Amino acid sequence: MSNPRLQIDGNKIAENAALLIKMLKPLAIDVVAVTKVFMGHPVIARLLIDAGATILADSRIENIEKMRRAGITVPIMLIRPPMLSQLERVLLNCNISLNTEISTIQALSASAKNLGVFHQVIIMVELGDLREGVMPDHLIEIIKETRSLSNIRLQGIGANLACRYGIAPDHHNMTYLAKLASDMETHFKLKLDIISGGNSANLLWAFSSDNVERINQLRLGESIYFGVEALNKRRISGAHTDTVKLIAEVIESNQKPSIPWGKRHKNAFGEQDDIIDRGDVAQAILALGRQDVDPHGLISPEGLTIISASSDHIVIESNNMPLEIGQEIEFKIDYVGLLSAMTSPFVKKYFT
Ligand SMILES: *Cc1c(COP(=O)(O)O)cnc(C)c1O
Repeated sequence: MSNPRLQIDGNKIAENAALLIKMLKPLAIDVVAVTKVFMGHPVIARLLIDAGATILADSRIENIEKMRRAGITVPIMLIRPPMLSQLERVLLNCNISLNTEISTIQALSASAKNLGVFHQVIIMVELGDLREGVMPDHLIEIIKETRSLSNIRLQGIGANLACRYGIAPDHHNMTYLAKLASDMETHFKLKLDIISGGNSANLLWAFSSDNVERINQLRLGESIYFGVEALNKRRISGAHTDTVKLIAEVIESNQKPSIPWGKRHKNAFGEQDDIIDRGDVAQAILALGRQDVDPHGLISPEGLTIISASSDHIVIESNNMPLEIGQEIEFKIDYVGLLSAMTSPFVKKYFT
């Protein structure tokens, strides 16, 4: 097997997906399985469907097109507001999208009419994390206009928290979202099918609430792939947290001083970290770098420490045995690490 590589345990991911779907069912919350961290990998898409997911979601049209080309036919949601430059691709490959701009929804309508297709929209509402969403006092206006457009169907409203400022989904803001939905229904005499409450950061709220109000959908990625809720990264009881590992290979191993010599400037990345003299150290270089993975997303095995990382070399120190040339080092990886490693063409992806 070629290195560096991601070793992905599909069975564990499928079990996590099935577990979350089962845990949320009694709360009448449907799971939208988000594929973006795996770039819409068809293997992941299929195992999510086999685990019971009835709808998938991704933030990028390229990933969604990849799934369609692979024969995935379940409904797919675009979870980033569409770009005007990609409307046709969105309409031809996605059944539903999250939206915040009336001009975009109008353009979706015009293109949908041209193409002879229908498209569902969820209007995202700003609840305080200050990423995507219309301000609540503009909701009436955008819903009114959306409802007047042909080939567009308003499916519901939604929100996203935690991603930008870490604002927690809680009883207060979720109740507010549910109340907005009811207010709109009363105002327009309509029924909203979907109240999409958020992402993996909503699970603490969901599992600790005795009443999830009318929130009936969560869009889950991280919790399925890592078995944790996203706010405090606490393990979900019964879920696997060891689904993915990254493996890299040693290409140099030496006893070297810990203090560099010569006149010192900033390094290639504009950094100049303080150095502590640790005497001579067992230092090794891995054929792995920032072009493969964000090193902050790696969790080193016992006895090994990542000291620094440049584009193509990660320097690690081992506190017992020196490492051998060709030796494979296995890292645990977090969401940030996986996002970067999946996106790198240099990292091979293996499923077990
Ligand atoms: C990425 C994303 C999700 C999924 O987030 P996780 O934390 O991976 O569960 C949900 N909704 C939106 C809008 C997203 O961008």
